[in-house]
Amino acid sequence: MGPLMKSTCLLLRMVYDRKVFPDHVPKFNGQSAYRTIVSKAEAAHIKELPFAQVFWEHISGAWVMTCPLGDDDFEVTARIRRTREGEDPKSWGRPFDFHELLKEYDDFCLPVRQILQLAAKGQTQEFDMFSSRRLDSVISRGCIAFIGDAAHPMLGNFGSGAAFALQDVYTLAKVLEWSMQRSIALSGALIKFDSIRSPFYQRLYRVLDKFSQVKSVSQIEEGSIDERIYRHVLRMSQAAETWVVYYRIDEQVARALSEADVDAIHTQPMARLRQFLKALKLLRRG
Ligand SMILES: Cc1cc2nc3c(=O)[nH]c(=O)nc-3n(C[C@H](O)[C@H](O)[C@H](O)COP(=O)(O)OP(=O)(O)OC[C@H]3O[C@@H](n4cnc5c(N)ncnc54)[C@H](O)[C@@H]3O)c2cc1C
Repeated sequence: MGPLMKSTCLLLRMVYDRKVFPDHVPKFNGQSAYRTIVSKAEAAHIKELPFAQVFWEHISGAWVMTCPLGDDDFEVTARIRRTREGEDPKSWGRPFDFHELLKEYDDFCLPVRQILQLAAKGQTQEFDMFSSRRLDSVISRGCIAFIGDAAHPMLGNFGSGAAFALQDVYTLAKVLEWSMQRSIALSGALIKFDSIRSPFYQRLYRVLDKFSQVKSVSQIEEGSIDERIYRHVLRMSQAAETWVVYYRIDEQVARALSEADVDAIHTQPMARLRQFLKALKLLRRG
């Protein structure tokens, strides 16, 4: 896409966002994420590096996430606040030389420093992190649904933003199919979509608030860096909630839609009866 086309798209998107969700303007929050895929076989040489998803936390708010993927891929993602001048933040990935940041990780334990050195030899992409006001509802004007990172930037806190975006899409597709089969208007379908997804995100925000509280305590407490990191990791693991990982969107959507069907069975005859009585009253008056 050419620069003119891109600027036009950006402008249109900004106008659109401001009209539809007026208070929702994503802003660069000063943090960036750096993602590199290294070889699993090479990562296996690093002693005490778990072959499971691990967030390695620091009291400064910086973290490193290590995670084995499919085939020979092993993901290394680091999030940090770095000083930068004269550069426009961008949400999409750009090539970055991770050697520039290695010194920022001197406080991390040996396996993390080793995997980061491995990552610095690979091809790292830099992504700037954008956040925005939390939305209470993700629908507008009875015909627009807002989905994915644009609606709910989680800043990598759960390492599951793509999973959340796919859950949004799954829910939207199922709700639209359900509403079409029952001749329910689009606005009704979107209200159902919102009633499934917005409480989910509100629940995630409550977990994020707990993480923020832990970070505030960790930043001001006394002790050696090792003791402080130890206590921080302990508190973060206590604040984490496992339901986020085990959330079954298929079951949630199926339950919500079958409850809506049961409600309709009970409310529709009553609504019809009320309409009939009203018509009867009008006839008698006439
Ligand atoms: C380093 C890193 C590691 C991550 N690791 C994980 C992980 O392990 N697991 C996980 O579940 N999630 C992970 N995520 C999060 C995940 O990538 C996002 O949550 C997910 O991609 C959101 O999907 P989306 O479709 O909402 O947005 P995006 O994937 O960001 O898609 C938006 C698209 O819109 C395009 N676009 C933007 N502006 C314009 C414009 N003006 N005109 C035209 N096109 C435009 C962008 O180029 C992009 O292609 C990670 C994110 C980062 C940055």
